[in-house]
Amino acid sequence: MPFDFSRFFGKKAKDDSDSGIKTLVVKSHKCPQSHRCPAVRVCPTGALTQKGNAAPTVNYSKCTSCGKCTRYCAFKVLTMEKK
Ligand code: SF4
Repeated sequence: MPFDFSRFFGKKAKDDSDSGIKTLVVKSHKCPQSHRCPAVRVCPTGALTQKGNAAPTVNYSKCTSCGKCTRYCAFKVLTMEKK
C-alpha cells in the first residue's frame, strides 16, 4: 500500500469534475421564447444558433467558453457552469 502523503501536505489532486473549467449551459426553461436572442449576434465564433424565437442552441465544437453571450441574456438562460 503506497504511503499517503496527502495526510501531511494537504488535499489530494483534484479530479476533472472539480477542475474549475466552465461550460456554457442553456437553461431553455427560463427562456420566454418570444424574441430574437441578442446573444446569438455577439458570439465571436458563431457557436449559437436560434430557430425562430426558440431558445438558442450551442455548437460545442465551436464554443470557446468565453462567456460573452451570458452578458446579453436578461433572463439568465445562458450561464457558465463547472463541468
Ligand atoms: S461562451 Fe463565447 S464562444 Fe461560447 S457561445 Fe457564448 S459567446 Fe459564443
